Amino acid sequence: MVSEKFTVELKAPDIEPYRESNIGVEFVTSFDSGNSGPHVMINAVTHGNEICGAIALDRLLKDGIRPINGKLTLAFVNHLAYSTFDPSAPSLSRFIDEDFNRVWVEDRLDGLEKTSELQRARELRPIFDEVDLLLDIHSMGTFSQPLMICNGLLKEREFVTKVNFPAHIMCGSGHVVGKRLIEYTPFNDTQNSKVGLLVECGQHWASDTGVVALDTALHFLRACKVVDPNFINDRLSPEAKEPGTAAMWDVTHGITASTDNFQFCEPFVGMEIIEKKGTKIAQDGDKDIMTPYDDCLLMMPNHSPGAGVRKLRLCQRS
Ligand SMILES: [Zn+2]
Repeated sequence: MVSEKFTVELKAPDIEPYRESNIGVEFVTSFDSGNSGPHVMINAVTHGNEICGAIALDRLLKDGIRPINGKLTLAFVNHLAYSTFDPSAPSLSRFIDEDFNRVWVEDRLDGLEKTSELQRARELRPIFDEVDLLLDIHSMGTFSQPLMICNGLLKEREFVTKVNFPAHIMCGSGHVVGKRLIEYTPFNDTQNSKVGLLVECGQHWASDTGVVALDTALHFLRACKVVDPNFINDRLSPEAKEPGTAAMWDVTHGITASTDNFQFCEPFVGMEIIEKKGTKIAQDGDKDIMTPYDDCLLMMPNHSPGAGVRKLRLCQRS
């Protein structure tokens, strides 16, 4: 595995205390303020190797977080994959049978097929159908700056502007196979006001990534207006207390390797902005990959080898 060269600086918390649920779904805890307001949800470990979200939720739960308006639900999504996390082989616990963040297609959710992730998705689906505002916490394979991802619908652009953390907001699908949770039909629907956001907090096991996960969860909760602002302010890191205005970008292209011989021109980590249109950024077999416009941002380069691997997304300023 490519990522085995990374040092694991974060410590995966013990989430066993959260197995017992107060709503009958293991590793999901929900609080109802009794007051009106949105149903807000934060997900950790949608990918079992991305431990930063578990650190953030563990902290919020240990600190006794409660909503003052609406409902707040905190979920350790792929707890089975997470339970296999081994710091000496940290990449191996991403999922059990398949990527949880690709199964959000009705045909598969409604079907008879059984995988570990589909069964967990079916357990959680009624909750996702009910929530109004969702934050799904992830991390990345490279040392990219953190970024927030949404589909780019107007309702999402309006809400994510209020969250305003981390500093980059990326709008668009990136052309994945299957559907991510934030693309699940009820979220990706202009006829309702539900919003699903996905944050990529930094490199999977870098110490800063845990800080960004908690800061993002707190800014999300602030924008949702369901938690006492003092609780939030007391826990934000110094760097996150007064963030500047986040920049919004549109994902315009997804680049998938068509050969086993795909090479980036530089060891990109992500969020590099290539000034000139027509700059060569990679080679795929004998094909040159060029930037299609000026000021092209490179999002989430993937250095794993192999034809069919999604290598990169290209983004243009909104
Ligand atoms: Zn992820």
